[in-house]
Amino acid sequence: MSNVVVVGGGAAGMVAAIAAGQKGHNVILIEKNEKHGKKLFITGKGRCNITNDSDEQGLLANVVSNPKFLYSAFYGFNPQALKEMVESAGCPLKTERGARVFPVSDKSSDVIKAFEKLLRDANVEVRLNTTVREVIVRDGKAIGVRIIRKNPNHTASKSMPVPADYVIVCTGGITYPLTGSTGDGYRFAAQTGHSIRRPRPSLVPFITKENWVKDLAGLSLKNVSLTVKNGNKEINSGFGEMLFTHHGISGPLVLTASCYTDFEKMKDVHAFIDLKPALTEEQLDKRVLRDFSENENKSITNALSDLLPQSLIPVIVSEAGIEKDKKVHDITKAERAEIIRNLKGLHLTVTNSAGPEESIITSGGVSVKDIDPATMESKIISGLYFVGEVLDVDALTGGFNLQIAWSTGYAAGSSIGE
Ligand SMILES: Cc1cc2nc3c(=O)[nH]c(=O)nc-3n(C[C@H](O)[C@H](O)[C@H](O)COP(=O)(O)OP(=O)(O)OC[C@H]3O[C@@H](n4cnc5c(N)ncnc54)[C@H](O)[C@@H]3O)c2cc1C
Repeated sequence: MSNVVVVGGGAAGMVAAIAAGQKGHNVILIEKNEKHGKKLFITGKGRCNITNDSDEQGLLANVVSNPKFLYSAFYGFNPQALKEMVESAGCPLKTERGARVFPVSDKSSDVIKAFEKLLRDANVEVRLNTTVREVIVRDGKAIGVRIIRKNPNHTASKSMPVPADYVIVCTGGITYPLTGSTGDGYRFAAQTGHSIRRPRPSLVPFITKENWVKDLAGLSLKNVSLTVKNGNKEINSGFGEMLFTHHGISGPLVLTASCYTDFEKMKDVHAFIDLKPALTEEQLDKRVLRDFSENENKSITNALSDLLPQSLIPVIVSEAGIEKDKKVHDITKAERAEIIRNLKGLHLTVTNSAGPEESIITSGGVSVKDIDPATMESKIISGLYFVGEVLDVDALTGGFNLQIAWSTGYAAGSSIGE
């Protein structure tokens, strides 16, 4: 039996440790926080959308970066296998709209408790409050890690080596750094000769130049279309829900669009909201004319209440270049055309994403070219593995990102010593 060190007690690390422990290896799981699964705790708004109940092809279709790399991991440990593992540890699951799987209790803490039981059953030694500083490599092989323990007396702690036959790095990305994911794994990978695709926040709100968004903060729009372009080139388009924030826009449509928007490369990003996607411009014009004829003597801001949420009306009127007090009977054909144009494509200049503190995942990471997709072992350093979000893989919302963590973690842990 071999000595295995797993670095990081998040989703990927816990499954990697459990899989290796179940094979009878001596496993130490090292986590820098005072408890494991801190990020898991906040997933799914505290309910933990643990996976998506779809087949492997369905999973792959929702992966944004490097889906082919995940083929073998998804087939080796799919949502069904994950569900059986978690339910066997006393956490029953349910499936909701969009095949999203949650614990029946709606408590992410119950998922964490299930993993704690599985870790105990697999005889994994858990070391909390312990940070890995470095992966130790000799002659092209990982031989351990160097750790430093948080000292309760706040006096300086000495770093010390922990020898191992195998090291699995599961340190996550750079998002929500307060949960412990501070990008340490990228440093370990770079120091040991691996390529890194520049990490950037993804599934993240957009910041816009237009100040009027703050007047709409909290307003959520349903059944709208959002198109995001860089210059004239369409980046992403979708139909569904979004919302305004104090600094820009967010919600499901925006988060999805953010997966395809790299602000380092794209410098001319614009969002267009079609507020009435079910109607053509002609149909919408007829509809507006009807509303106008019923409100001829009212000001324009009081004539659009049937068509739009109240707070949005002044924005549309102003963007159309019309005085807010102008009477409906004075609105020209050209002004009406401007209203229609804005209803079908309310424009926002997107200056950036909201940053790692607000982003759900990290896009980029350890290049999959350097990793064996069947086992997650490095092709450069033997005995060294990278799994979960630290890798250059990411997916859309719906439980897919956690399934990446479970599947890649299992691939590494279960292949040790084979
Ligand atoms: C608000 C929010 C909600 C989300 N909701 C969902 C959801 O419902 N469904 C879904 O599929 N995905 C969701 N995600 C994404 C999902 O949480 C991540 O993709 C997943 O947690 C990645 O797992 P991981 O194990 O690779 O990394 P992490 O969960 O980030 O775990 C990494 C661990 O490594 C530890 N660590 C880091 N460096 C060191 C070191 N040097 N030494 C020791 N330990 C270290 C960290 O403390 C941390 O515990 C959400 C993310 C966020 C931020």
